[in-house]
Amino acid sequence: MTRQPKLELHHHLEGAAPPAFIRGLAKEKHLDISGIFDAAGNYQYKDFADFLRVYEAATQTLKTPEDYHRLTLAVLEESAKSGVIYCETFLSPDFCGGRDVGAWQDYVAAIRDAAQMAEAQMGITLRGIVTAIRHFGPDKARQTAICAAETAGDFIVGFGLAGDERAGQPADFAWGFDCAHEAGLHLTAHAGEWGGPESVRAVLRDLRVERIGHGVRAIEDLALVDELAESGTVLEVCPGSNIALGLYPNLRAHPIAQLYARGVKLTVSTDDPPFFHTTMTREYENLHEAFDWDEGVFDGFAQTALDAAFCDVDTKAELRKKLETSHA
Ligand SMILES: [Zn+2]
Repeated sequence: MTRQPKLELHHHLEGAAPPAFIRGLAKEKHLDISGIFDAAGNYQYKDFADFLRVYEAATQTLKTPEDYHRLTLAVLEESAKSGVIYCETFLSPDFCGGRDVGAWQDYVAAIRDAAQMAEAQMGITLRGIVTAIRHFGPDKARQTAICAAETAGDFIVGFGLAGDERAGQPADFAWGFDCAHEAGLHLTAHAGEWGGPESVRAVLRDLRVERIGHGVRAIEDLALVDELAESGTVLEVCPGSNIALGLYPNLRAHPIAQLYARGVKLTVSTDDPPFFHTTMTREYENLHEAFDWDEGVFDGFAQTALDAAFCDVDTKAELRKKLETSHA
């Protein structure tokens, strides 16, 4: 399953930071974050609150555009090992220059440069989705949307909303989504992870998103599931993340198979892979084991991801060729 070409649409750049890379960076900067690793050197945490603490400690080592350049290369190297040929990653001006447009442009240039190197060396294509952090509030989300609009193009292709789903209402962020949409960016938002089906309805209605990050709790309202299937709205499903954070006890209890059976368009992603002790290959293997899904099902997920990807038509055509040649 490692070699099967994969496309990943739900991925946070900082959340994908390999632990060894973060340890090295902390050492260079004389920061002591040894408490966040287990004996084997992996991230360790006890519960969701502790996860947030570990995540923050790890990401506080990332400061400069140069740090993000190195991070991008380290992350894409890991993704390429899992057979990922295309990845859309969430980027936040909140962490990259404090939402200052000029500073943000420097970070984007650094990340993009690293992405081009990775593409040449490892055959993996990266695109960025600028993401506002919900619990930072609508004012900061406005500034984030302006950063997104200023860098919209062939690398920054989307705008999204992440963070604590229980903070505020999606409608509070409509200005940012309108601004991003006018700049030509595609739209997605986290919903239906910590929030129920109503949170999925709200982002579709108030933010006019094309895809939904997670969205799995739509399963609690079958009328909504049927609406999603009918409209072809794509869910960026991250099974390993949901299980690691305790949303569902195991994959058998996870709604992915039910959503799939009811005709909802799905893709599979890792979210924050090393924090959830997963990779794209592991996600595929676990799904195969739990539901006996064969290669055809996974090819379908890759095809759905390609259709729902936010990149331009030329990039899609190249990716399509890669998928086709893998079957030749
Ligand atoms: Zn996420």
